[in-house]
Amino acid sequence: MKSYSLVGYAIILVYGFACMALAPAAMGPWLGLLIGAIYFTVFWFLAGVYLADVLHLGIAHRALNFKPWFVKTVVIVNNLFGVYVGPTDWVNRHRLHHKYADHAGDPNKLDDDGLWRTLYLCLFPYKCTENIAKDEIFNSMAFRVADSLPFTILSQIFNFALLWYLVRDWKYALAMWLGLRIFAIWVNMIQNYWTHTRQFGYRRYGDEHDNAMNIGEWLPITATFSACLQNNHHHHPSLLRLSHSDEEYDFGFKTIRWMKALRLVAATPKGATIPPDVPLETLGF
Ligand SMILES: [Zn+2]
Repeated sequence: MKSYSLVGYAIILVYGFACMALAPAAMGPWLGLLIGAIYFTVFWFLAGVYLADVLHLGIAHRALNFKPWFVKTVVIVNNLFGVYVGPTDWVNRHRLHHKYADHAGDPNKLDDDGLWRTLYLCLFPYKCTENIAKDEIFNSMAFRVADSLPFTILSQIFNFALLWYLVRDWKYALAMWLGLRIFAIWVNMIQNYWTHTRQFGYRRYGDEHDNAMNIGEWLPITATFSACLQNNHHHHPSLLRLSHSDEEYDFGFKTIRWMKALRLVAATPKGATIPPDVPLETLGF
């Protein structure tokens, strides 16, 4: 098994043991594990819809058109109850990441940044030198609230307090709350470090101007909603799917198809255009 997958499985395993060991006596270890698993799954999935689908393909690359009410609901609900990620800042950083990938100006990681340096950058990224996130939606009430400093701080105090109130045990609540966020950092490291370091994964396209790689194993693909297919994605950032062959497992694309079935999203013309060098017969959307 690859080192990055091993780290991911280890985090999940330790999370499960911590939930069992720290569950209140009245609850018992198995119910403790079940509640921990539900908390983890719900907020991992919500964060994936928020970041990989709505902010990434919907807003940052405009490959998808989500219903505006859905975008705003996801922005508020994820950031109020789940893992906080400031929406406007994220979109700006992501666009700069594409513009300068692995070079000066990329807020995520420079060419020679190693594992520990990139881990530090996940929490304290390079300062953005430009603002290229000026879309109208960032001026909406939902984004302005979610971007504000009081909301950033209070939402995380609120959702930890709510979790503690529901389970009535601060150690057990802290294990779930912190465990999910440690897993989120691993997800971020898959995207920022392991898929931007040439010794990991594979390349479909030989683009020399960046270090973007594809990682195709089940856990990284599922956990990141396919954001670890970075070589494909950097080659054609506007395409609405990150897998460029039906042989590549693509969990993120499945979630977008589910949301399409619920009439929450439609493709934009550029999102639905298959570039000539992508070996797909049909988009499958
Ligand atoms: Zn992107």
